[in-house]
Amino acid sequence: MIDIDGTRGEGGGQILRTALALSLVTGEAFRMRGIRAGRARPGLLRQHLTCVEAAAAVSSASVEGASPGSLELVFRPGSPKAGAYRFDIGSAGSTTLVAQTVLPALWSLAEPSTVVITGGTHNPLAPPADFLAHAFAPQLARIGLHLAVHLDRPGFYPAGGGVLRVETGPAGASSSLSLLERGPSLDRRITSLVANLRGDIGRRQIALACAELGWDDSEAVIVARRDAVSSGNALSATLRYEHVTEVATSFGERGRRSEDVVQELAAGVRAYLAHDAPVGEHLCDQLLLPLALREGGEFRAAAPSLHATTQAETMARFLGPRVTFTAEPAGTVRVAVRG
Ligand code: AMP
Repeated sequence: MIDIDGTRGEGGGQILRTALALSLVTGEAFRMRGIRAGRARPGLLRQHLTCVEAAAAVSSASVEGASPGSLELVFRPGSPKAGAYRFDIGSAGSTTLVAQTVLPALWSLAEPSTVVITGGTHNPLAPPADFLAHAFAPQLARIGLHLAVHLDRPGFYPAGGGVLRVETGPAGASSSLSLLERGPSLDRRITSLVANLRGDIGRRQIALACAELGWDDSEAVIVARRDAVSSGNALSATLRYEHVTEVATSFGERGRRSEDVVQELAAGVRAYLAHDAPVGEHLCDQLLLPLALREGGEFRAAAPSLHATTQAETMARFLGPRVTFTAEPAGTVRVAVRG
C-alpha cells in the first residue's frame, strides 16, 4: 500500500486525482492522509468525492473514508472495465477534473468507453471543457490516445448542471511526443460564452477584449446558450499554432465588471506570448501523466508551476521518477518524461 501525504507540494485535489488515476492504471492500492488539509474547506468536497466514486466505479474498487470533509482515504483498485458511465457531481464542481481522473485507466483498454459527467463545465481553477477539447485532446492524439470531448450543456458556478460527455479508447499505436516549437500561427479567436444572459454582455465583452489585445472584430465570436440551468459567462482566447493550441480563459460573474474579466484574459494571453515555449502553464502539468503512460517525450514549457512539480512527485510515488525539468536561459523549461 502506497502512503501519500496530501499536504505535500500544491496540496490540493490534484494529488488525490493523480493517485486515483495511477492506482487504477498500476493496480496499486494507496492510503492518503491530510487530503486538502491546508485549504479553507479541507478534506473531500463533492467534486473530489465524485472523482473517488468514478475511480471506484470503473474498476470495482474498495474504498474507505469517502465521506464529505474526510481527510483520509484508502483506495484498493479492481480491474478497470470499459463501458458507458454516468456521474453526477451534484454541485458546480469540475466535470473535466473528474474526466481526467478516470481517462488514463480507460484510454488504454481494448474497448471504447463513454463517460457523461454532470456538474460544472467552465470553472475557475480547472480546465474548461474547451481547454480539454482544443489544447489537451490534440496532444493526446499525437501519442495515439483518442479523446473526443462534447459539451452537451454548459454548467457554471454555483448551480452546475452542465453535462460533459467524453469518448475514449481504444488507443492507437503508441508514439513519443516531441513538442519543442509552436510552429507557425494558424488562427486566433476570442469566444464569449454567454448562457442565459443578455446578448449585449457578450458584444461588449468581445469589443473590449479586441480593443485590449489589438485583435480584429472578425477574430471574435459570441456563443449564446439558452440550455444551461443557470446564467454564466466564460471569455476565452484560443491561439492555434501548427503544433499546439493554447486556450486562456477568464470568467464573468454577477457583480464583476467586463473590464476586469477582459483584463484577466489579456493577462493570460500576454503570459503565453511573453515566451516562445509551446506548452503553457496548465497544459504542462496535464501532459506529464499521459506521456509517462505511453512512450514519454519532451516538450518546452513556461516555468513549471507548483501543480507541475507536485504532479511529477505524485507520479514518482507510483511509477518511480519519470520527469526531469531543465531550466532554459530565457526562463522557460525543457521537460523530459520517461515512458
Ligand atoms: P487542483 O488545483 O489541484 O484542483 O488542480 C487544478 C487543475 O486544473 C490543474 O491541472 C491545473 O493546471 C488545471 N487548471 C486550472 N486552471 C486552468 C485553466 N484556466 N485552464 C486549463 N487548466 C486549468
